[in-house]
Amino acid sequence: MKYLTTIGLEVHVQLKTRSKMFCGCAVEYGAPTNTHTCPTCLGLPGALPVMNGHALELTALTGLMLGCGIAPVCKFDRKNYFYPDMPKNYQISQYDLPICLDGAVPLHDLAYPKDAQKSIATPDKKVGLVRIHLEEDVAKSFHYDTSTGIDFNRAGTPLMEIVTQPEIGSPEEAFAFLTSLRQILLYGGVSDADMEKGQMRCDCNVSVRPEGQVEFGEKIEIKNMNTVSGVRKALAYEITRQTEELEAGRKLAQETRRWDDASGQTFLMRTKENAHDYRYFPDPDLMPVKTDGLVASARAAMPELPAQKRARFVADYGVSPYDAAVLADDQELSAYFETAARAGAAKPKNVANWVLNDLLSALGGAGKTIGDCPLPPAALVELVGLIDAGKISGKQGKEVFAEMFASGKPAAAIVKEKGMEQLSDTGALETLVDQVIAANPKPVADFKAGNPAPLNFLKGQVMKLSKGQANPVVTSEILQRKLAEG
Ligand code: ADP
Ligand code: MG
Ligand code: ZN
Repeated sequence: MKYLTTIGLEVHVQLKTRSKMFCGCAVEYGAPTNTHTCPTCLGLPGALPVMNGHALELTALTGLMLGCGIAPVCKFDRKNYFYPDMPKNYQISQYDLPICLDGAVPLHDLAYPKDAQKSIATPDKKVGLVRIHLEEDVAKSFHYDTSTGIDFNRAGTPLMEIVTQPEIGSPEEAFAFLTSLRQILLYGGVSDADMEKGQMRCDCNVSVRPEGQVEFGEKIEIKNMNTVSGVRKALAYEITRQTEELEAGRKLAQETRRWDDASGQTFLMRTKENAHDYRYFPDPDLMPVKTDGLVASARAAMPELPAQKRARFVADYGVSPYDAAVLADDQELSAYFETAARAGAAKPKNVANWVLNDLLSALGGAGKTIGDCPLPPAALVELVGLIDAGKISGKQGKEVFAEMFASGKPAAAIVKEKGMEQLSDTGALETLVDQVIAANPKPVADFKAGNPAPLNFLKGQVMKLSKGQANPVVTSEILQRKLAEG
């Protein structure tokens, strides 16, 4: 029996705002505990929330980037629950009138796990979204041996929840979804979406059903995943577990589980009987929001999206789709390439090759990122220009590059210092060729008699005479012309 997999994700993304969602406290990752708090984000009775307009704008921008519809009016609701990390015992969220509806995240090839990029089942797939809403984050708990500590710095920070349609077909697609989404969020400057810092977290819903069955299987939710590779592993584990249960003739029921990375297993947290009823109701302290103004400012902040940039790099600079994808993967890298490509002189495609091969591996070797690259784009363009013009060979170029990267000296200075400049001046080369022809009558005669072998020998003699600096291509041309002439 074959089984089909259905996956839907609920992704929480921390927005990049200076202050919290409903108070003026600063949002600062890694600050000393409980240093950014006030009566509102501590949830003290009587404290009043005030909306953060920038958070609303960033959510609208996310909606525009993902092709969502923006609701003309949205509102905030109270989600009631016993929250050990939220003393007011409700979270301000959005229930029936979220900011964004529908939309989709396009998956791109490079976003799949490396080992899965060769066998992408559904290339160019778009994963549809249900909604995007805005809420406040809760405080962060730290569990010790016999006590628990709570850090309220995170309490009340703006959190965007992105809910997908149940349209993801495999753990690899879920991985690609998160990576593609993260890239778009970074492009928009909406969030740093660093999963290691908890700036992007996700709940994974997954079900399996026998092929031929129309309705989805029972949804199992894996809570609070915080790495993309963890998401892939947890889903793969769950799919196998659920399939084995069905194979054994057992029924699955809707439940919530957690992933344990150390043991590589999921464990039951609660069943549907214990599901919460949050008793949502509109927050009486917050007015509904008309979104037209937000949409206008979000529109003005729309960036070029990753897919557009990739297509443009292929069209404008003649790089391959794969190279375009690597360049566009990181905004700083693509900006570096583009500055270099626009600097003229060298061919953009050759510049791209140097960026993707030599520069990236030199940066990797030095433990640096493109952000602290010691070579400005113009310096690299100068080097590539010297090679393209035949002033130095490609092999010499590698040597010059290494020295430029280490010392920051310009290419021309290094070429001069090392006496690398190739002899391309035709007048000087002609003199050398004449000397070689005059000094080697026997090979010259052999060549003229129809034996091609001496040509390389004669070329070698010119190179020798020039102490290795003769431009091999120009030398060849002159030599053949002169041999044909006389
Ligand atoms: P809930 O009300 O329990 O939160 P939702 O219908 O809002 O459930 O769905 C939450 C997430 O679960 C969405 O991402 C959705 O795509 C996904 N989902 C819903 N049903 C299934 C299913 N049978 N299998 C896998 N994922 C599902
Ligand atoms: Mg839900
Ligand atoms: Zn506060």
